[in-house]
Amino acid sequence: MRRKLAAGNWKMNGLKAALSELDGMEAAAQGASEVLICPPATLVAAAAQTAKGIAIGGQDCHANASGAHTGDISAPMLADAGATYVILGHSERRTDHDEHDEHVRAKCKSAWQAGLNVVLCVGESLAEREAQNTLDIIGGQLAGSVPDGATGHNLVIAYEPIWAIGTGKVPTTDQIGEVHDFMRARLEKRFGEGVGRSVRLLYGGSVKPGNATEIFAVSNVDGALVGGASLKAADFVPIIEALN
Ligand code: 13P
Repeated sequence: MRRKLAAGNWKMNGLKAALSELDGMEAAAQGASEVLICPPATLVAAAAQTAKGIAIGGQDCHANASGAHTGDISAPMLADAGATYVILGHSERRTDHDEHDEHVRAKCKSAWQAGLNVVLCVGESLAEREAQNTLDIIGGQLAGSVPDGATGHNLVIAYEPIWAIGTGKVPTTDQIGEVHDFMRARLEKRFGEGVGRSVRLLYGGSVKPGNATEIFAVSNVDGALVGGASLKAADFVPIIEALN
């Protein structure tokens, strides 16, 4: 049985005062679903210290454990700060920092070595969907980004269509189901049924309190990776409750 996961990606948002939002999420985080917040790196240590019953994650890590990489943060540093998860391969990283599958794969190995769980993001652009290449793109990203050694404990996959992120546009439930069923089949084929069935699959892209219930009813959707609507407890709590 896969435990549902409500994950929030705060992206480059949040000063110290934003940590008070975690207080407002704590009661909902006592339910059946796991709750994860990935604040900016500056808040990871403080969030991990103050959050009760909420897992804390980073939003990226370097592929190396240490070294001359100004401005970067390593997986052992995140773990040392109290993070138990890290998001890797988000489309904003792939675009802003020219990250490709081989970079994501190396980062993922480093995260696993540090004992972090990885939320690995995949997703197609609008042009790729319109050209009917969605499943090819997702299959290629899964094959290229996910290293050998995945388990239900160290890997979560987030399907985030780029055109749905921050736009208010959401795929139909059929479109979400098609991709999630495809990802499940690919994981089972590569890692075997036991592992393939235990990896959680999240949907991400304009998830809001108003559409969460419908999305969570789709087969092979084990939760959500939420951007904007995870910043405030008032928005994120109803999403957690829809999952519980
Ligand atoms: P929004 O929920 O703001 O569309 O962002 C989704 C996302 O990119 C989460 O990683």
